[in-house]
Amino acid sequence: MYETVIGLEVHVELKTEGKLFCKCQNRFGDPLNTNCCEICTGLPGAIPVFNEECLIPAVKTGLILNCEISEKTRFDRKNYFYPDLPKGYQISQLYEPFAINGHIDLPVSGKTIRIREVHMEDDAAKLMYENGRTVVDYNRCGVPLVEIVTMPDFRTAEEVTEFMEILRKDLRAAGVTDGRLEQGSMRADINLSVRKEGESLGTRTETKNMASFKAIAKAIEEESKRQILLLEKGGRISQQTMRFDEETSRIEVMRTKENSDDYKYFPDPDLPYITISEEFSRKIRDMIPELPSRKEKRFMEDFGLRDEDSRVICRSDDVADVFEKAAKISGLNDVVASLLLTHIAASEELPTPEALSKTAVLLHSGKISAGMARTLLSDVAVSGEDPDEYVENRGFVRITDDGLIADAVDKVLSDSGNAKAVSDFKSGKDKVLGFLVGKVMRELKGKGDAEKVRSILLNKLVGDIDG
Ligand code: ADP
Ligand code: MG
Ligand code: ZN
Repeated sequence: MYETVIGLEVHVELKTEGKLFCKCQNRFGDPLNTNCCEICTGLPGAIPVFNEECLIPAVKTGLILNCEISEKTRFDRKNYFYPDLPKGYQISQLYEPFAINGHIDLPVSGKTIRIREVHMEDDAAKLMYENGRTVVDYNRCGVPLVEIVTMPDFRTAEEVTEFMEILRKDLRAAGVTDGRLEQGSMRADINLSVRKEGESLGTRTETKNMASFKAIAKAIEEESKRQILLLEKGGRISQQTMRFDEETSRIEVMRTKENSDDYKYFPDPDLPYITISEEFSRKIRDMIPELPSRKEKRFMEDFGLRDEDSRVICRSDDVADVFEKAAKISGLNDVVASLLLTHIAASEELPTPEALSKTAVLLHSGKISAGMARTLLSDVAVSGEDPDEYVENRGFVRITDDGLIADAVDKVLSDSGNAKAVSDFKSGKDKVLGFLVGKVMRELKGKGDAEKVRSILLNKLVGDIDG
């Protein structure tokens, strides 16, 4: 009877050469405190200069989230003190973010999540706690981020996970970010409240810096349980900032939630307005490839793929490309999809679209069996041989001739090595049938029609029992 209401603030590190306001390298994993200068460490008198290259992935993000791109945008100072913030303020965008009013569709849960805004800001340094000491790495200080702020449109952890997965896939495909959650390049703050249906929004808490899909789902579950329990006991939710401990799955209060007044925001006097022309946005739009989420949807609509299959096929551009071409050449969408899915589960080497489509035709016509198609496809993916020639050269066609199959069955049944299996079958252990089918198939070099092999074998075995 309670409903959970969730809004996200997702921080995404942009993949750029330099930092947001200086030319220091934006690189993960370098030796500590080697990519820093007077600007990103906030020495007195240093003047930040907006690094224009950051606008490309930022605007891409806005466009991918279907936002309106602001023609003018500027930065504000968010003032607070912490050891990871040597300037004493973060440069962010409160009053005039560069992108607003977007949305993103979630095909599985069938919802649309509204995006309130996307803004740019600089990252803080990284603090690491080691044996009672705190180590600060200023390499991350000044790294460009976009913060994506959604409306409180989520109701379940599944919806949040679906959103995060789409976001990560699409932003990676567009080259916005490397999207490595475990390295902190995407971090989500979860704003969560609960209410009884029909009531207005409840007071929310904010759980900070969630860096794995699993932790996000778990934290949502724990925090809504905690709030509901508290309300049921007659308590009140206070607006607090929470920390989620991944090891213990426990939620605890970090601090009482501050509001924006506490930060004494004001427009940064060092940084002028940035203009984003329509032409610039158009150019950026042209740089965005077909996004995985769109492609998945298109493959479902155009080729009738099931959503799970479409997702697996679209996981890699190369696989998606081979599928699309082979399906178009052969017109055998289902056969192509199932052949390709089995193939990529077992093998690294991709077949060409032509080889895949020819294999699909051979299978569909009944010339080869499904098992033979698997073998053929993995051979030609490596050798580059033409599937038709492969079949021709090796006489690689399905054996359907009853006489040939019966001969192979006889041979297997009379082989003394199989006597134990045969007598096991006769004493009721019909599980050994599969073993004997396998022997006959091997005798037929894998080319036997499996149905026929089975029925002829069974006939002979049962006939033997009767006789
Ligand atoms: P703040 O100024 O404290 O950051 P915002 O109004 O910017 O607060 O909202 C931050 C996030 O919290 C947004 O993602 C928004 O959707 C979400 N949010 C706001 N109110 C609620 C609520 N009552 N329950 C759940 N999420 C909420
Ligand atoms: Mg906020
Ligand atoms: Zn610097």
